Amino acid sequence: MIDVERIRRDFPILGREVYGKPLVYLDNAATTQKPQCVIDAISEAYCNVNANVHRGIHFLSQQATDMMEAARDKVSQFIGAGSREEIIFTRGTTESMNLLASSFAQAFLKEGDEVIISGMEHHSNIVPWQIQAARYGFKLRIIPVTDRGELDMDAFRSLLNPKTKLVSITHVSNVLGTVNPISEIISQAHSHGIPVAVDGAQSVPHIKVNVKELGADFYAFSGHKIYGPTGIGVLYGRKELLEKMPPYQGGGEMIKRVTFEKTTYNELPYKFEAGTPDYVGSIALATALDYVQEIGLDAIAQYESELCDYALGKLTEIPGMRIIGNSDHRSAVISFLVGNIHPSDMGTLLDRLGIAVRTGHHCAEPLMDRMGIPGTVRASFSFYNTKAEIDTLSAGIERVKGMF
Ligand code: PLP
Repeated sequence: MIDVERIRRDFPILGREVYGKPLVYLDNAATTQKPQCVIDAISEAYCNVNANVHRGIHFLSQQATDMMEAARDKVSQFIGAGSREEIIFTRGTTESMNLLASSFAQAFLKEGDEVIISGMEHHSNIVPWQIQAARYGFKLRIIPVTDRGELDMDAFRSLLNPKTKLVSITHVSNVLGTVNPISEIISQAHSHGIPVAVDGAQSVPHIKVNVKELGADFYAFSGHKIYGPTGIGVLYGRKELLEKMPPYQGGGEMIKRVTFEKTTYNELPYKFEAGTPDYVGSIALATALDYVQEIGLDAIAQYESELCDYALGKLTEIPGMRIIGNSDHRSAVISFLVGNIHPSDMGTLLDRLGIAVRTGHHCAEPLMDRMGIPGTVRASFSFYNTKAEIDTLSAGIERVKGMF
């Protein structure tokens, strides 16, 4: 059970006003707000344990290193990884996908090979592959999206062939809210011996994820979308694959021995973590994951699903409302258009009422093209949102409609 009023008190920003109106924050898919414990963890790390990690023999450096490495253990446990060596800290999902595309392509992809992505990917699971495809000559194949906003699974099956070397797919769409059948995708790809990478940016904050049970070969997510700080994220990779992949960046930390003739690389996961890491970010991310686990992902999923159903009920009562994405398997994201009102006009006017939503293409332009729309208004929910806030959104939309 979620005690939403108690939870809201943990988030100082939720008490503020915007344009003299109480803030209604419905832009959680872009970034989540931070509980006081995460803010305190950042402050505490800088006040008491700040020192560069891994290279120091002095007390503070060792303490900071221990805390960062404990954070790695926390992440490993949170997503059910096989070992801590499989957890690479990055700046976020975008950097995780760039690391993966660059290193995987160098190790495994050549001209004539194919990588399957889908028509509902965020640009960060499209463009890194395009960059590497131009370098190595492999092809991108795209799973089409149906009118309901689901992956066309028959088309997916027919795309799998001996040239396919990787499937890279989002777990949850940041636009449609669709929860993709990721277990099924993984088991079908694996039956052809093809590894699967999952963009978990929109799933990890809302659904209990166990990478081993899912069988995911790679899994990426961002700290700031799960109540942690900005600038920290994770790439999980199966050890056996990571060991065969070359480093992404060169510099300090990622080496064992450097000479001008030959350099050898560090072991996992450090081989992929060049330079001073955001150790404060990883420490505070661990605090965020503890916070989420204390509330409980089952309780979060259930509450957010109720909130989403309530919102869908309220919004569909509004004449002229068009919901973009109608999958039965959905997470806490609703994209919509109302009559002929441009999404940015709707977003700007809702903002004046204190309601923060996101508008535009949501970094998914190919999906917008597929749906034949320039963009959407997107309301995205967290366990700290309330039904009363959804009533405010719905009344706000009615009010904006009245102005046109
Ligand atoms: N993938 C998905 C599905 C997303 O929703 C986002 C962010 O909105 C990203 C990737 C990129 O995340 P970040 O900007 O934190 O790197």
